[in-house]
Amino acid sequence: MIITIDGPAGSGKSTIAKMIAKELGFTYIDTGAMYRAVALKIKRSGVDPDDPLSVVKVLQSTQIDLIPSENGVKVFLDGEDVSGLIRTEEIGKLASKIARHPQVRKILVRMQRKLGEKAKNAVLEGRDTGTVIFPDADIKFFFTASPEVRAERRFKELKEKGININYSDILKEIKERDLLDETREDSPLRPAEDAVIIDTTGKSLQQVFREVLQIIKERSRLH
Ligand code: C5P
Repeated sequence: MIITIDGPAGSGKSTIAKMIAKELGFTYIDTGAMYRAVALKIKRSGVDPDDPLSVVKVLQSTQIDLIPSENGVKVFLDGEDVSGLIRTEEIGKLASKIARHPQVRKILVRMQRKLGEKAKNAVLEGRDTGTVIFPDADIKFFFTASPEVRAERRFKELKEKGININYSDILKEIKERDLLDETREDSPLRPAEDAVIIDTTGKSLQQVFREVLQIIKERSRLH
C-alpha cells in the first residue's frame, strides 16, 4: 500500500508521515530530504544552483541513501551522514531552487518511485508524491495550515535544536519557499484531485494523527 502526504513547509506532514509509518510498520520516504541533500552538495561544490546542466552533472555522480532510524530516517550523501546539516532554512531554500529544474526532478522522481516500489508498503512525504511520483497511490493526503502557524512550528522546532533565528525571518522564508514551490512550471505544489485535504491549523499532532489514521483504516477496508 502506498500512502502519500504532500503539503507546504511546516504543515506537519513530516511528523505525521513518520508517526503513521511507525504505527503501520511502513517504510517512511522523505522526498524533500533528497532535494536537500543535493542542495547541500551544490552549496559545497560552488555550482550555480540556477544552472540546470551543472546541477544535473553534480547529481549524476551523487549517491543518496535514506536509512530508517529511531527518529524516522537518516540521510546519507555519498556515504556521509548529513541528516542534521540539511535541516537549515538556507538548505531548504536552495533545495527549492534546484527543485525547479525539470531534469533534476526527473532523476529524483525516478529514484523515489523505485524506493516506494521496493518498500511495497510506504508512506511518502513531499510536494508531488501524490501528483507525480505515485499518481495511483492508494490514499493521498494534502496538508495545509496558515503561513503564520507553519512559521511558528518551524520556529519552535529550530529553537529546540538550539538554532537561533527569529520568527519574522522564518515567516519570510516560508512565504518565499511557498511562492517558489507553487509557481514552478514542473510539478508545482498542489493537491492531487483525489487527495484528502487536512487543515492542521489549530490542531494538535495527536488530533491530526488520529484523523489521518482513521481515514486510512476506513479507506483500506474499502480496498
Ligand atoms: O519538505 P522539505 O522542506 O524538506 O523540502 C525542501 C524543498 O524540496 C521544498 O521546498 C521543495 O522545493 C522541494 N521538494 C520538491 N518535491 C518534493 C519534496 C521536496 O520539490 N517531493
